[in-house]
Amino acid sequence: ASAFDAVPMAPTDPLFGLMAAYKADTFDKKVDLGVGAYRDDNAKPWILPVVKKADEINRNDPSLNHEYLPIAGLASLTSAAAKLVLGGDSSAIADKRVVSFQTISGTGAVHLGALFLAKFYPRPENQSVYVSNPTWANHHQIFQNVGLPIAQYPYFAKDICGLDWPGLTASLESAAPRSIILLHACAHNPTGVDPTQEQWKAIAEIMKRRQLFPFFDTAYQGFASGDLAKDAWAIQYFIQEGFELCIAQSFAKNFGLYGQRAGCFHFVAAPGAHAEDVAKRVSSQLAILTRSEISNPPIYGARIASTVLNDPALFKEWEADLCTMSGRIVAMRKALFDKLVELKTPGTWDHITNQIGMFSFTGLSEPQVQKLREEFHIYMTKNGRISMAGLNTRNVEYVASAFDQVVR
Ligand code: PLP
Repeated sequence: ASAFDAVPMAPTDPLFGLMAAYKADTFDKKVDLGVGAYRDDNAKPWILPVVKKADEINRNDPSLNHEYLPIAGLASLTSAAAKLVLGGDSSAIADKRVVSFQTISGTGAVHLGALFLAKFYPRPENQSVYVSNPTWANHHQIFQNVGLPIAQYPYFAKDICGLDWPGLTASLESAAPRSIILLHACAHNPTGVDPTQEQWKAIAEIMKRRQLFPFFDTAYQGFASGDLAKDAWAIQYFIQEGFELCIAQSFAKNFGLYGQRAGCFHFVAAPGAHAEDVAKRVSSQLAILTRSEISNPPIYGARIASTVLNDPALFKEWEADLCTMSGRIVAMRKALFDKLVELKTPGTWDHITNQIGMFSFTGLSEPQVQKLREEFHIYMTKNGRISMAGLNTRNVEYVASAFDQVVR
C-alpha cells in the first residue's frame, strides 16, 4: 500500500489540456486561439530581432560564465526593470525606497509577493486578497497556496462585454480596510478590458480612502499598446499618489522570453522619513524567502533582457519590435471585427476592437465554444476567451465565418 492512497486525482490544467487537444487534431485548417503566446502571421513563435542580437552578444562575450547569480538576481536587470516600470525619473527610485528582486518570470514574482504578504503584511483575521472576476486563473492558486484567503471584485459586465464599473467600485468601497487588491496594470487577462485613466484615478481615490493595498501584476508592458509608458501609466499614477505597493513584472510576452523565465518583483515603500530603512528590511526578508525557494534566479533570459534594456540603441529596436507585435494584434482585431460586420453576424462586436492586449473576451457561450471546436477545429478556452495572436491574415476569415455560423 502507498502512503499516498488517499491523494485525489487533480484536474489537468484546462489551458494545457486545450493545447494537447489542438496538437492531436489533424485537420489542416485548425486554429489555436487558446495559446497565451505571440504568434507571427504564419502562426509561428516569433523571436524578436532585438532578442536575437542580444543573444548573440551574450553568447560571444568571453567574460561570461555559468556561475550563480546573487540571490536578488542580475543587478543590471533589476535596476533597469525598476526604471522601466516606474519611469526613469521616478522619485521612489531616487528616494531608495524601491526593492527589486529577479524572479521566475511573472508567476514567480506574484508568488514571491504573495509569500511576503502572507508573512509580513499586517492583516486582521478576516481580510482577503481581492482578485478581479475573472482573472488569470493562476492568481487563485498562488494566493491560496500561501494561505491567503481570496475574494473577488466584479470586473466584466457580460451585457456590454466591458468593465463592470458599478460592481467594481461598490466592491472596493465595501472591502475591509487593509485588504490587498490585485490589479492588472494593463491588457487584463482574460478579458482584454482595462479601466480608462479617469477610472484608474477613481480607483486610486477609493483605495486610498479605504486604506486598500495595491498589488499590480504587469505581464504586458509595451506589448499591449506598443507604448511602454502608456502601459505603465496606472502603476506610476498610484506611486505618484503616495501608495505603498507591490509589482509583479514579467518579461515573457514583451521580450518573447517565455521559457527563459525572466521577471522581477518590486516592493515600493510608502514615501516618508523611514522609507529607505523599511525598504532595506523588506529586502533582507525577500532575500531569505528567495534563498529558501530558488536560491537564486536563472541567468540567461535575464542577461538578454538586461542587454536590451541597458543599451539605448537596442532599446529603440525593442520598442520597434513591441510595435510590430502590438500592431499585428490591433490589425487582427480590426480584421475580425470588419469581417463579422460584413457577414452581419448577430450581436454587437465593438468590444473586439475596444479590448486591448493578447486576449479578447468574445462573449461566445460555452456551447458555442464547444461547437467551434467540434465542427470547425477552432480551439479556445470555454469562457470564450480568444488569443488574438492566434489570428492571422490566412485564418481570420475562416474564424469570422465560423463565429457567424455558431451564433446564428
Ligand atoms: N500575470 C498575468 C496576468 C498573466 O497573463 C501571465 C501570463 O500569462 C503572468 C502573470 C505570468 O506569466 P509568466 O510567469 O510566464 O511570466
